[in-house]
This record gives sequence, C-alpha cells and structure tokens, in this order.
Amino acid sequence: KAKRKPVIAGNWKMNMTPSKAEEAVKETVELTKGMDGCDIVLCVPFVDIRVAVRATKDTQVKIGAQNVHFEKNGAFTGEISADMLCECGVEYVIIGHSERRQYFGEIDATVNLRTKAALKAGLKVILCVGEILAERQANITAEIISMQTKLDLAGVEADELKNLIIAYEPVWAIGTGLTATPEQADKACGIIRNVICGLYGKEAAEAIIIQYGGSMNDANAAELLAKENVDGGLIGGASLVPAKFTEIVKAAQ
Ligand code: PEP
Repeated sequence: KAKRKPVIAGNWKMNMTPSKAEEAVKETVELTKGMDGCDIVLCVPFVDIRVAVRATKDTQVKIGAQNVHFEKNGAFTGEISADMLCECGVEYVIIGHSERRQYFGEIDATVNLRTKAALKAGLKVILCVGEILAERQANITAEIISMQTKLDLAGVEADELKNLIIAYEPVWAIGTGLTATPEQADKACGIIRNVICGLYGKEAAEAIIIQYGGSMNDANAAELLAKENVDGGLIGGASLVPAKFTEIVKAAQ
C-alpha cells in the first residue's frame, strides 16, 4: 500500500450539546492515545467548537467544522466564516457533504466557492463527492464523481492541494447501513485519484488523501482501509460512540 498517512475523521452532524461534546471528545482523546499511525479529526457542530478545541489542546485529536461560508464577512445572517473558524482553533472543515447538497441547496458552484475560501484561510478541507443510488444503477458513477471533483476544484491551485482531502461518499451508503464493498470503494477512490492526476499531475495524485465514507464502522473499517486507494474514512454514526470510533482509528494504524 502507498505510504500516505490515513485520516480518520468523525462527522458528528447535528448531534451533541456542548456538555455531551466535552465528554465524548475527552473520551476519544483518552482512548486513541498513542495511535499516531493516522491523523484523527472530529468535525463537530459550531457551538461545540470551543469546548472541543479546549479538550483536545496538545493532543493527537484535531477539530473540524461541518461547513463554512465563502465570504470573508458581512451581511450573511446565520453564517460562519473561515477566519472565525481559524481563530477558534479549528483545523479542518467538511465541505459539500451530501446532506448539505440534499437538504440545504448546496451545489457544486457553492462547494467550489467554499473550498477556495477555506483553503485560502489555511483550513484543511474535507471535500465530499459521491453518487446517488439512481446514478449508480444507471452506471454513471464514474462520470458523476469525476464531474463533481472537477467542478468543486475549479481554480484551486496546485500548492493548495496539500490541505485538501477528498471523501468519496456514495449517498446511498450514508446513514443507511449499506456500506460500499471494499472493491466499489477502491474503484471510486481510484477514479477520483485519476481526475486529480489529469488536473494536477501524477505526483499530486499519489500524494492526495482520499477517504471512503458511508456506514463505515468498527466491523468493516479494516477491509475498506486495506484497499490501495482508500486513505482513511469519514465516519458519521459510528463517530458518536468513542469506543467504536477508536476501533476504526485502530484499524488505520
Ligand atoms: C457521513 O456523515 O459522512 C457518513 C459517512 O455517515 P455514516 O457513517 O453514518 O454513514
């Protein structure tokens, strides 16, 4: 397997009040102590950021947000800027998650704006792409994920790629208990790597971290992570239980 350091990231979605977050973050820090074979990230709700950053200070666990606005500041009621996240000690941000695309009007054009703004601010971006079930059944998965990757990265400079992670998340696998097979995950991540090769060259393609996400858990993580093109995971449900999340981190060592 290529020598890329995997990234295991939890996506808490809209779960955990600050008091619960503090407990879960502290437990995750304790349980994953010494597991330095992968980078460990928890992407928490905005209101949990302060307690989460405090509880992970000088530890192996990094904190991420789940969205970011693309403007620097101004009259955008309810939005959060990249500078705000940076000043709060956030290092990562998920952009283009399928739930944002499905329920909140997110499209590739706005995913692209967010990605560029976040990278410019120095955040590490976890960019999500993935096909819906009808697209897989119509045999157009490769076209869909290639198109999303190209549109979402338009105008992103080669030297910003070191802060970019792509998460391949088939929408039919998210929160459904239906995991992609290791072969399906490997193939799709390989397609995305090829797109990066076409856009930025071979070296960039070999270096970029591409995660799988979609009902990854303590039971199936090892076989997914063993695949050549799968460099980690973006984990929803299982990241809410520190012991389960830790098993996935363990599988990535
Ligand atoms: C996700 O939210 O990115 C995700 C993969 O969720 P789950 O692990 O619950 O399918």
